[in-house]
Amino acid sequence: MNYDRILIRYGEISTKGRNRKKFVDKLRKSVRIALASFPKIKIRAERDRMYVLVNGENVDEIIKSLKNIFGIQSLSPAIRVEKDLDQMKEAALSLVKSLYKEGQTFKISPKRSDKTFELDTSGINHTFGGYILENIPGIKVDVKNPDINLKIEVLSEAIYMSCENILGAGGLPVGSSGKAMLMLSGGIDSPVAGYLTMKRGVEIEAVHFFSPPYTSERSKEKVIDLAKKLAEIFGSMKLHIVPFTAIQQSIKEQIPENYSMTTTRRFMLRITDEIRRKQEGLAIITGDNLGQVASQTLESMYAINDVTNTPILRPLLTMDKNDIIKIAKDIDTYDISIRPFEDCCTIFVPSSPKTKPKKEKVQHYESFFDYEPLIQEAVENTEMLTIRPESKEQPSEFEDLF
Ligand code: ATP
Ligand code: MG
Repeated sequence: MNYDRILIRYGEISTKGRNRKKFVDKLRKSVRIALASFPKIKIRAERDRMYVLVNGENVDEIIKSLKNIFGIQSLSPAIRVEKDLDQMKEAALSLVKSLYKEGQTFKISPKRSDKTFELDTSGINHTFGGYILENIPGIKVDVKNPDINLKIEVLSEAIYMSCENILGAGGLPVGSSGKAMLMLSGGIDSPVAGYLTMKRGVEIEAVHFFSPPYTSERSKEKVIDLAKKLAEIFGSMKLHIVPFTAIQQSIKEQIPENYSMTTTRRFMLRITDEIRRKQEGLAIITGDNLGQVASQTLESMYAINDVTNTPILRPLLTMDKNDIIKIAKDIDTYDISIRPFEDCCTIFVPSSPKTKPKKEKVQHYESFFDYEPLIQEAVENTEMLTIRPESKEQPSEFEDLF
């Protein structure tokens, strides 16, 4: 079938009242980025739906890209037809024929927004239903549970016909809910946490703590590869790489061993918060999962969280590991995450850190430690990379969009 456009339904955005324009704008940007490799397409954004005009590009490939975009509820490849009954009949017939398999049923779902159109809804049903029944031998009508549901929409400017309703990724368009910093390790959890937050419309920048020579270039590359995967969602993503060796060495010297993990996490949070402030983010995201390891008990979170009152988003907090792994596989980060690497924390941190640290104790230990200059130095020497997805080199016209 020669579809000439793809109809995009917004779903959740439609309920957002005054913010709608912003949501539609962000979605339009996401669509442009996702379809950057189809130069001939055109996007038409309207209040309650969007059209991608195909202009000869490959419809299946476009749909594949659109299915990953947050903020799209569903998609339908469609054709535009002039308000001419003969043309409409032929278009309806060829659309149904292109999908029909022997023994299948169909129905017509008319929607008549243009009240001046010559046929009312039952007229549309009879005219086109009748034509299809006459011309496809064996096809039957089933209004309750049809195999093919031909939607005919009569709008003031033209008629649109479509049959398929393809489920989109749901969620909200990225960037419509502000910006947050993702603490990105090389593990399985944090990329999934980033993905789920992006799905709620949050734009993310990643922060990674790197301790050369204890952690190798290979583990840095691993984090860059994870960032590339997440960057596919919005075309690019900033990754801040924080040199953490000096701080870890000082912690080892100054803090009792059983509290070094708690202090290390507090430093990571302080530094991330400082980068967040500079980058004008509103929250910090981690891959914490309740009870998984010593730093992720409620007591630990309480003691670590003490260093900031910036909201900390922990989308995986209550999830089961198997469910996290399933998402990691779906979004293609799992295979990268399981590559062997040295984590900056496991190298310095004792094998049995305190699982129930006391906030007052860690505050006391840190009170002898003049750490502020170390934090400033780490922030100043942080390397900021702009990560782009592997597969798509963005054309320069998108450069200044963000
Ligand atoms: P992950 O699978 O994301 O590494 P994890 O289960 O291994 O998580 P931890 O190593 O305790 O758990 O880390 C908890 C969270 O702290 C991570 O999800 C991540 O958000 C953050 N984090 C840990 N190490 C780093 C790092 N080197 N750089 C940036 N963030 C980190
Ligand atoms: Mg980890």
